[in-house]
Amino acid sequence: MRVYLDNNATTKIDPLVRVKMQPFFEELYGNPNSLHKYGMEVRPALNEALGAMYDALGVPDADDILITSCATESNNSVLKGIFFKYILANPEKNHIVTTSVEHPAILDTLLFLSDYGVDVTYVDVDAEGGISAEAMMAAVTDKTILISMMWANNETGMIFPVEEVSAFAKEKGILFHTDAVQAIGKLKIDLSAVNVDYLTFSAHKFHGPKGIGGLYVKKGKELPNLLHGGEQMGGKRAGTLNVAYIVGMGLAMKQAAGHVDKMNTDVKRLRDKLEDAIKMIADTIVVGPREKRTPNTILISLRGIEGESMLWDLNKAGIAASTGSACASESLEANPVMSAIGEDPELAHTAMRLSLSRFTTEEEIDYTIKIFTAAAERLRSISSTYAYTNEVG
Ligand code: PLP
Repeated sequence: MRVYLDNNATTKIDPLVRVKMQPFFEELYGNPNSLHKYGMEVRPALNEALGAMYDALGVPDADDILITSCATESNNSVLKGIFFKYILANPEKNHIVTTSVEHPAILDTLLFLSDYGVDVTYVDVDAEGGISAEAMMAAVTDKTILISMMWANNETGMIFPVEEVSAFAKEKGILFHTDAVQAIGKLKIDLSAVNVDYLTFSAHKFHGPKGIGGLYVKKGKELPNLLHGGEQMGGKRAGTLNVAYIVGMGLAMKQAAGHVDKMNTDVKRLRDKLEDAIKMIADTIVVGPREKRTPNTILISLRGIEGESMLWDLNKAGIAASTGSACASESLEANPVMSAIGEDPELAHTAMRLSLSRFTTEEEIDYTIKIFTAAAERLRSISSTYAYTNEVG
């Protein structure tokens, strides 16, 4: 049996999305910026896809959705765009507030910008892996131009107080960006009710294709173009549009928004079942209270068992999980979010993330529980650190 429990890293393409994309690899290959029939015949599908995204986010099309190649590009675009438009023009307002557990696409970009005079405050997570709205607000100074805060964390699934902090940002006249990559399809997103100026998303996290994403930009909050060249996207990002993938992303987002309830009932039930079973294993820590997490995610630590050893055992049995963000998996580093949360350094090396999707089945979860429990027993029996710490108490 093969079980895919790494849906926070990427997801399988929804079969409906694949079918919808297919004609755009075959007969409908025109460039939408061409004036002939080939160009014109793909435009309705592009407009339909964009319309689906505006609807899914609850925004009018007077606002903008910038199509990008991925969430990494969206995050880079917003941070560098704000640097070019606002900070270069007025270095007095050079302060950005963010969290210490953002994706590297935020953290590394801010590190880069700090060499150019940008001052960044990183708000730490609390013991549950959460971010307090008060701490975010307290970090703001009269030099703050932007608050950038993810909607849900990719490692823990912890949901951050975007509504509260964004309302505060509006009151103070500070721009607000959220990396909503892990929130789309898992939480109800309605930007008509939340003061978000910029929002990042990525199709491959909600059963769309890889290599395509977007940045929502509120009307009046436009950013400078970072990719100069052609006139595509109204001159806001040059480069021929990837029609097939945009069409796929539009349907995938519509489907994701339509499945939020299922995620919070059926998928959550399976997640809770798996979590309950894992918690029966001695010395297990699950990060964050369930009700504060996205419905598909578990970040756990089993004392005395290296995350990688467990992953190998699971992998041999056909189960895919991860020790955390796929972007850091080649370096076999300690889990950064666990490091941020835990006093105990062992936590960071024993972390393991299991993330479900709406395609996960009960049979897959039952199989995972069986394999996981047996693997934990086997690895504990050969773990010298576990035997030692148990002996000394
Ligand atoms: N932001 C978050 C919260 C993510 O989880 C990820 C991917 O793991 C990204 C950004 C980067 O996404 P992409 O692969 O589309 O660049």
